[in-house]
Amino acid sequence: AWNFSAGPSVLPLSVLEEVQHDLLNYKGHGMSVLEMSHRSKVYGDIIADAEATLRRMLKVPDNYSILFLQGGGTGEFAAAYLNLFASKLVRDKQRKLGRQLNCDYLVTGSWSTNGLKEVQRLGGKPNVVVNGVVSAESGKISYTSVPAVTEWKLSNPEETAFVYYCENETVHGVELPQSMVVDAVDPSVPVICDMSSNMLSRPVDVKRFGAIIAGAQKNMGPAGVTIAIVRKDLLERDDDPEITCNLPSVLDWCYFDSAGSMPHTPPTFAIYVCGLVFKWAEKQGLDALERLREARSKLVYDEIDAHPEFFLGWVDKRYRSGMNLVFNLPTSELETQFISEAAEHNMLQLKGHRKLGGIRISLYNAMPIEGAEAFVAFMKDFYAKNHK
Ligand code: PLP
Repeated sequence: AWNFSAGPSVLPLSVLEEVQHDLLNYKGHGMSVLEMSHRSKVYGDIIADAEATLRRMLKVPDNYSILFLQGGGTGEFAAAYLNLFASKLVRDKQRKLGRQLNCDYLVTGSWSTNGLKEVQRLGGKPNVVVNGVVSAESGKISYTSVPAVTEWKLSNPEETAFVYYCENETVHGVELPQSMVVDAVDPSVPVICDMSSNMLSRPVDVKRFGAIIAGAQKNMGPAGVTIAIVRKDLLERDDDPEITCNLPSVLDWCYFDSAGSMPHTPPTFAIYVCGLVFKWAEKQGLDALERLREARSKLVYDEIDAHPEFFLGWVDKRYRSGMNLVFNLPTSELETQFISEAAEHNMLQLKGHRKLGGIRISLYNAMPIEGAEAFVAFMKDFYAKNHK
């Protein structure tokens, strides 16, 4: 079957086969990775290897730490805010200014909305720099495009702790070009980016970010592990002991950094599988994965554009996601029929997000081009049989 789930998503077949092969007796060590102490030498090598592969592949500079965390992307919404406001960099800047700094949020869909809400929940007052686009006719906000950079209401750099955005909105199918935000932000202000659903789908210029956060379960491995790549100066803490005390250990980047991501029991098996996916991705090469992602998504978007009165894509073409492709059909009955007939052809998990409905096809790293080809053949057939 072709699994077009938005996540947890498909893993490369060769990785699953290797996991299966080693499941009961990991490389002759007499036990499964599932049963292994995280303090053992064997496991120490597994996590070190995973980190080293990711670092090599993404060309992560030495002044960045790679952390394996728990709590998902959602945990990192809080962690990013709390850690940045506990950092010496932000505290020093605040002292100089004589008041609390702003943090700027670009809201481009439901995941950045969730990131923003998490900060509000913690009592923060994030500054909303962008909030979707406003329709000229209805005055309503929609997450179908991104306003021009000239319309962003970025705070003065001296007054800003960080700028936050989500690069690929998994639900709304909106993806921002990587340089768009980092080019717009003053280099003195750290940019924090949620790359949960497009990490490893293309090269990343890590040095332009303060921190990158990403749940693993789309492109990197199983659910249960979350990755943060953090510039080391942001891990320097202020002397004020109250600050660190206010930060729960499991959200504290420094706590993880000082103990090789293992201050407590890590999600051992998920990290092990991630390590195998990293090796697989490194072998493909990020440039090749990017070409594949462009080729896969182009096939589907071309078909949408061939029949715009039937396949109703709603995202501005400039910001269409290469990972999560969303569209409607003329009626909800046709959508239900599309999803169930696709399933009969072994194309699964195409139902749009519960908030939006419609169709969503997710094309993550492990999806070969043949998956997109099969889907497009089905679209053509469905169109031929059902358009008026
Ligand atoms: N950010 C993005 C872009 C996501 O797609 C998701 C989940 O789908 C999250 C954050 C939240 O991740 P989690 O479910 O691991 O908390």
